[in-house]
Amino acid sequence: MLVSMKTICAVARENHFGVPALGVNNEHSIRAAVEAAEEKNSPLILLITYGAHPDFVYFGKTAAEIGEKAKVPVATILDHGPSYETCVWAVRAGLTDMMIDKSSTPYEVNAHEVKRAVELAHAIGMGVEAELGHVGSGENYAVDGYSNLTDPEEAVRFVKETNCDFLAVAVGTAHGVYKGTPEIRFERLKELRDKVPVPLVLHGGSGSGDENISKACEIGITKVNLANDLYRGMAEGLINNDISGNKVYGVYGLLTEGYKQVARHYFDVCGSTGKASLYDLSRPGLNGRSEDGSVKEA
Ligand SMILES: [Zn+2]
Repeated sequence: MLVSMKTICAVARENHFGVPALGVNNEHSIRAAVEAAEEKNSPLILLITYGAHPDFVYFGKTAAEIGEKAKVPVATILDHGPSYETCVWAVRAGLTDMMIDKSSTPYEVNAHEVKRAVELAHAIGMGVEAELGHVGSGENYAVDGYSNLTDPEEAVRFVKETNCDFLAVAVGTAHGVYKGTPEIRFERLKELRDKVPVPLVLHGGSGSGDENISKACEIGITKVNLANDLYRGMAEGLINNDISGNKVYGVYGLLTEGYKQVARHYFDVCGSTGKASLYDLSRPGLNGRSEDGSVKEA
């Protein structure tokens, strides 16, 4: 069923596990993510970037429809929303939550933009993820992996000022494929966990190492963003199988299975396997309703 990311993360934080947030860009990947989560009896977050699909509103509603029918809790979040306007589109697309990413701008600009998104989102029961410090690119890891880590004191001030619901932190991971070996700053993460009052998010999970991710989730990461490894899984689903002749009819099945293999693995790595049982799924789903299940008045 469709639930808010706040609900998913509150239970995960209390029980010290991480929830995989899986990148999706078409109906096949949404269904693959949901099927894998159901097989693992895990809560699931679907990551939807604004440019992932040519029709953002249609795609958001598709994700909501499929999520609503799932046997496990599913949330849908706008990933790396670049602007306030994109966040408004996330509302229109029926997503449960939104991320506004102004982490490349100065602190004051970032805080100002996040506050605006929070005002919009909280009026209709949606949650907001912000990013402080900056998670850069794996291809530029020699620089991005070490500069702009999240400062714990600044993070406390930022959450208090903006009232954001989730905070993406830079602790040594990076987006995409790493050039070099990822080094996670666990001491920094512990300090963030002890001081910051909202669930922490790890971006750039792909290629960061299973042990690193498991340890980060045990220490205090609640949501782990993953995309690259899943798409690699899809590609390998084709490369490693025979699609000659009429076998090509199975092409979508191979893509889906390639994605699911990677997804299943990460539910285990993050510690969320079996944890869907901790959620109350007897309430009505969130589709068009607020956190408590009622229709929110404007
Ligand atoms: Zn990211």
